[in-house]
Amino acid sequence: MTTDVNNTGENENLEGKKDFIHEIIEEHNANGRFGGRVHTRFPPEPNGYLHIGHAKSIWINFGLADEYGGKTNLRFDDTNPTKEEQEYIDAIIRDVRWLGYEWEGLYYASDYFGQLYEWALKLITDGKAYVDDLSADEIREYRGTLTEPGRNSPYRDRSVEENLDLFERMRKGEFAEGSRVLRAKIDMTSPNLNLRDPVLYRILFAHHPRTGDQWCIYPMYDWAHGQSDSIEGVTHSICTLEFEDHRPLYDWFADQLGIFHPQQIEFARLNLTHTVMSKRKLLRLVKEGHVRGWDDPRMSTLSAMRRRGIPPKAIRAMCAQTGITKTNGIVDIQLLEYFARQELNKNAPRVMAVLRPLKVVVTNYPEDKVEEFEALINPEDPSLGTRTVPFSRVLYIEQEDFMENPPPKFYRLSPGKEVRLRAAYFVKCDEVIKDADGNIVEIRCTYDPETRGGDAKDGRKVKATLHWVSAEHAVKAEVRLYDYLLTVANPAEMDDDKDFLDYVNPDSLEVIANAYIEPTIEQAEPGMQYQFERLGYFTIDPDTTPEKLVFNRTVTLKDEWAKLQKSIGG
Ligand code: ATP
Ligand code: MG
Repeated sequence: MTTDVNNTGENENLEGKKDFIHEIIEEHNANGRFGGRVHTRFPPEPNGYLHIGHAKSIWINFGLADEYGGKTNLRFDDTNPTKEEQEYIDAIIRDVRWLGYEWEGLYYASDYFGQLYEWALKLITDGKAYVDDLSADEIREYRGTLTEPGRNSPYRDRSVEENLDLFERMRKGEFAEGSRVLRAKIDMTSPNLNLRDPVLYRILFAHHPRTGDQWCIYPMYDWAHGQSDSIEGVTHSICTLEFEDHRPLYDWFADQLGIFHPQQIEFARLNLTHTVMSKRKLLRLVKEGHVRGWDDPRMSTLSAMRRRGIPPKAIRAMCAQTGITKTNGIVDIQLLEYFARQELNKNAPRVMAVLRPLKVVVTNYPEDKVEEFEALINPEDPSLGTRTVPFSRVLYIEQEDFMENPPPKFYRLSPGKEVRLRAAYFVKCDEVIKDADGNIVEIRCTYDPETRGGDAKDGRKVKATLHWVSAEHAVKAEVRLYDYLLTVANPAEMDDDKDFLDYVNPDSLEVIANAYIEPTIEQAEPGMQYQFERLGYFTIDPDTTPEKLVFNRTVTLKDEWAKLQKSIGG
């Protein structure tokens, strides 16, 4: 057996240099171990929604099979009925497809419960497994530690007949939960704790979403996983690094049973800054009300990414950019935003939207006049043509685009200054109107008819171009602005023992109840994505109703990526 194939060194993702998984597969293809077949699987446990870490695993498994003309199964690792739900199965199916992948076969580890039971009987018959009456605490205590060998259970030397009888009765439901387990008989002194007589079956009187009440003993992960791979003819069983120490067990089972023997290969998990990846933690965020649900756009789940408007292609691009590695690292979330921006820049139609409106009255523009200006739908693709933007005497601009007493380098609007209103006219601010408390409620401007379309006939320049909407024509919408879920980049790195929930960003969601958007937006349909000029990319949220548009900010336009080139970890 080639058990140390994983130690072929680090993938450095240098151009022309293959990562270690490609090397292993190519070695197998050359030596004929699997007859040139490449068959992978993506094996989620349906105990939560998929997150962007899973996307990496999906990308690797499906990507490798694609590359080598192979196949990929989707297999639900549904061996723990106490935590698994149909809702999660449905969500996983939807999310894998959304990411852009289609599987060869769809399977459930629970399909194999019968076969796994038969194989357990074989191990018992061969004297390689026994029923143990120690309690969970005792088993832990007998297991020893990294520095101390374990001790044999007093039940370890039961006869084959007694073990067969007890195991059969475990299956029939004669014993209480926790009273007995089936264990492999390997080596209680092994330096690898996973080989110290691992538990294969435990008693659980739990209703299973697929097998119902047929079973009251359930296989442990290690016993189910490799054998499921083997049954499906999976050649390369790719998993994350924490399973490296389980590989000897994976191999031991296949060897003892004499069944088809896949190769387990481990790679480093994907982690992202400012968020968490484990389903257990994501569940806490949901259950404890820090977010609105699994698909809250601040979450790291694929459902959240979809709702937020992150294109699946951007996720795949991030996976490719960070590559396949064997060192755990943390990837800056801005890398994902960078790829999202790239995609949306190509595909998102432009509109002007004002999030925090400041009323502008153009005093020399006739009361009843409306002009229509043409602006490109997407300057990245002029063939898409133009949209029509109405202009009138009362407009809104962004509050932050005006300052009454501007500092030296503020080039936007201020008293006496002239700016361009995008695609329309130059306007100059003449007067600031305030309420009794001194708040600015309106500004008054004059426009120059000689700048129609946005350029001055006399060639004079302005330093700023502002977005705007016509007050009378604008469409109101709710806009949700998101910031990072966690205030720190990597909670695991903080040198205190705080819970990750202590780092939840209290300002991660800002809801703008009434933004104003140019009327083109009336054509918006569910899921559509736009660039709000100068502000960012925004996606229609499913909370949208015929009465009210709701948008999520997908990403801003600010690209910090260039600064971060060096920090792409693997
Ligand atoms: P979690 O800790 O989030 O619950 P898990 O590993 O228990 O994750 P599974 O449903 O068992 O989740 O995972 C399915 C597959 O996805 C496994 O092969 C697992 O190794 C892989 N995977 C899970 N998280 C990541 C990650 N952050 N990066 C890469 N692969 C991952
Ligand atoms: Mg798991």
